[in-house]
Amino acid sequence: MVSTTFTTSRRTAISVLVALGLVGIAMVSLGATGGLPFAVKPVAGQPLAILEEVPGPETGPTCAVDKRYVDEETFGMRPDVVDAWNTLRAKAKAQNITLCVNDGKRSRAQQQREFDKAVERFGSVEQAKKWALQPETSMHVKGIAVDIQPLNSASWVDKNGGALGWCRRYDNEKWHFEYDPTYVTNGCPALLPSATGN
Ligand SMILES: [Zn+2]
Repeated sequence: MVSTTFTTSRRTAISVLVALGLVGIAMVSLGATGGLPFAVKPVAGQPLAILEEVPGPETGPTCAVDKRYVDEETFGMRPDVVDAWNTLRAKAKAQNITLCVNDGKRSRAQQQREFDKAVERFGSVEQAKKWALQPETSMHVKGIAVDIQPLNSASWVDKNGGALGWCRRYDNEKWHFEYDPTYVTNGCPALLPSATGN
């Protein structure tokens, strides 16, 4: 009897897990089509493959300190990155610096649309690759990158972000920062010329 009970409860547990998985997939699909963007909340331990499908906001409210930019919500980014971002933003605020997320999370589909626009603009895939990244290489798709504006706020992060794991990565993108907890102990890596190797 004991083993029957055990088997039954294990089956129940498995069904619950399967059901939760299906709900998760459904939420991600709805988010990807724009039907339910705010319902997408990635959780710690979620497989990366799914995180890469999670879209970020297309836009956001105007940045409080510079109306040329927006300040997007952080939804879709990796949960530890959101926490680290909130810590960074609070530290900046304490020094009277406002950080705006001009661009944060993108899904693979959103990044592909960006790349397709570049192909249209530059005339070929080869040319587009010099200016835009494909979904598999973008750190925005992996949910660890933010484009910070305005530029004087970005330069504050360039000076002060490393201690909290936020580093600028590319010489030609003063606004692009990536979070990696190992930066706290190892320091920021040397700048690369660009994200595209251009
Ligand atoms: Zn960026």
